[in-house]
Amino acid sequence: MTIFTKIINREIPADIVYEDDQCIAFRDVSPQAPVHILVIPKKPIVNVENIGDEDQMLIGHIWLRIRDIARTEGLSESGYRVVVNCGADGGQSVDHLHYHVLGGRPLSWPPG
Ligand code: AMP
Repeated sequence: MTIFTKIINREIPADIVYEDDQCIAFRDVSPQAPVHILVIPKKPIVNVENIGDEDQMLIGHIWLRIRDIARTEGLSESGYRVVVNCGADGGQSVDHLHYHVLGGRPLSWPPG
């Protein structure tokens, strides 16, 4: 079980900003921007490699909630970035699919 499953189960605390039956969003404990929120499916999918064809609706749902969360956080006009790290070279450190929503400052490119 990953730390994110423990957050879903309320076994460890998190600053939860949104939740429904399919996903949950909470503030990153180590924010890399003024707004840094993680949006995750409740289903314990490890990473992008492990998304199944049957997850199509779930993944679309998550993107729509990301859009809404960005609006709620006031990022729509200024812009923001959505990042999904996958595997070792991608820098993934928690094996539960998560979408980083970063904003509130200009973000440089390319990433490190
Ligand atoms: P990644 O490196 O893409 O796997 O991202 C994992 C993210 O989870 C990092 O940005 C961490 O800061 C964040 N994180 C780890 N533990 C927690 C936690 N307990 N609550 C909130 N965010 C966390």
